[in-house]
Amino acid sequence: MDLSYQVMVYDSTAAAYQNLMNALPTLFSSFEATDEYLPDATLDAMEAQCRDAFFCGEMIPPYESRDIVSILKYYAQYESAPQFYTFDDVDRSKLDVTAIAQHIWDEDMGERSRAAYIDSIWDSGDDNMLRLFFGRKLYFLRQLDVEHMKIAHPGIYDEGQPNVKFGTRSLEDMPLYEIGKINPELEKNLREQAFQQSLDKSGCYHCAMCGAADRSRVYFQVDHITPMNKGGKSVPENLQILCRQCNGKKGDQ
Ligand SMILES: [Zn+2]
Repeated sequence: MDLSYQVMVYDSTAAAYQNLMNALPTLFSSFEATDEYLPDATLDAMEAQCRDAFFCGEMIPPYESRDIVSILKYYAQYESAPQFYTFDDVDRSKLDVTAIAQHIWDEDMGERSRAAYIDSIWDSGDDNMLRLFFGRKLYFLRQLDVEHMKIAHPGIYDEGQPNVKFGTRSLEDMPLYEIGKINPELEKNLREQAFQQSLDKSGCYHCAMCGAADRSRVYFQVDHITPMNKGGKSVPENLQILCRQCNGKKGDQ
C-alpha cells in the first residue's frame, strides 16, 4: 500500500463524510480524473469542491482538509471509497465540557488559575482526546465559555436562540469562503439557497448557464451572478450554481 492513514469520523460529521463517499464517482468524473496519482493542484481543487458541497457550516470537531485529500488519494488509487470503522470505546468523560466548566466553577478559580488549568488539560493526557475532538483550542474555549455562562447565569442563556447575530451587512461584501471563517452557518445557508433555487422536481440541480443537470451537488459550484469585483454581493439574489466547466469559462473572461 502506498498510503496508510485514519480519518476520525464522529456522529456530527458522519453524514457529511457519507455524502462525500457517495459523491466520489461523480466528483472524479466531473474532474475527468482518471490517474492513479493526481497532481496536487487537482487534489486541492477537488478538496475545495468537497468542502463547499459537504463540509461548510459549523462543525465540531472541525473538518480537516488533509483528511479529504487522503480520501481522494485513496479513491484515485483503489477506485472505491474507504471503509468506515466505528469505535464505541472512546472515553467520553474527557470530552465533557460541562463537567470541566463545573469543576472550574466549584474551585472558584481566578482568571490566571483558570487559564493554567485549561492549558494543563489541553496539553496533557496520554490520548489527547480534547485536541483530537475539538481540533482547535479556540473551539474548545468557546464551548467552555458557553458552559460557564449557563452555570453562572442560569435562565439567561437560552439554547434555542442563535447567540451570534451581528455584522451581517458587512459580511455581504465578502466571498463565501471568508464569510465561513466568521459565520459558518451563514455561508452554509447562502450555499443552500443557491442550490435550492436550481433544484427541479425530479431532484436534479441545474447549471444556470448551460443547463447541465446532476443529482449531486459536487458537480456544481456556487457563483456570484454579478462578480464581487464588479460590486456584486454575497446575497441569495446574486448567487447561482454553475457546473465546473461553465464556472471555468466565466472565470477566464
Ligand atoms: Zn454549465
